[in-house]
Amino acid sequence: MRVVLKLSGEALASSARDETIDASVVDHLAREIIAAKEAQDLEICVMVGGGNIWRGATGAMAGMDRATSDTMGMLGTAINALALQDALEQHGQDTRVLSAVAMAQVAEPYIRRRAVRHLEKGRVVVFAAGMGSPYFTTDTSAALRTAEMEAELLLKGTHGGVDGVYDADPRLEPNAVRYDEVSFEEVIAKDLRVMDMTAITFCKDNGIPIRVFDLMGDKTLRRALSGDAVGTLVK
Ligand code: UDP
Repeated sequence: MRVVLKLSGEALASSARDETIDASVVDHLAREIIAAKEAQDLEICVMVGGGNIWRGATGAMAGMDRATSDTMGMLGTAINALALQDALEQHGQDTRVLSAVAMAQVAEPYIRRRAVRHLEKGRVVVFAAGMGSPYFTTDTSAALRTAEMEAELLLKGTHGGVDGVYDADPRLEPNAVRYDEVSFEEVIAKDLRVMDMTAITFCKDNGIPIRVFDLMGDKTLRRALSGDAVGTLVK
């Protein structure tokens, strides 16, 4: 099975210690990815976000040129990608960072067929710089790469303590109910916060199921990677 895992930049940070990248958190994520990969024949790609470092919208709101600010965000994802690569390789897992923005000294360029080849050779592929275009997010980039890689599933790990998709915000509504499964139509109609709408409609149009789950739960990442029914399946 081939899957794409979307990790938010903030999932690499630590609120407890107020660090941009917390090595122990990244190490935990790397161990889980490796455990899932070793348990079964899995090909894993990771799209890393950059929200722990910079978000394009933040700069734009302060009056910066949006495209420039988004480019800063994309560069932030590259920093996170290198941190994840390092953690995976510390544990002996060969990993390649493929960047959508050329940075020849740092990472390979993203070339679809090369990414597929790395996966076939058992390497974990980490995508950096989203899709390389401003005005997009790494959620949408993850959806795009899932289609390009012909992966079966897009995994969206959350880190804020919300372990799936609810019919209302569970942090505000104590009676909110978590879905085991929910349709794209319902997510769109009720504006349920799964991923940004561009990513959702892309997945809907291309028949890509999304599993939303708690990244930090006990073994939830390895279970989600292995295809277990943790969290919520959007399809
Ligand atoms: N970004 C972009 N194009 C892309 C992917 C990302 O311009 O294809 C920029 C955008 O400014 C975004 C930032 O990179 O705010 C960080 O990515 P994102 O917000 O998706 O990170 P996450 O919230 O997942 O940590």
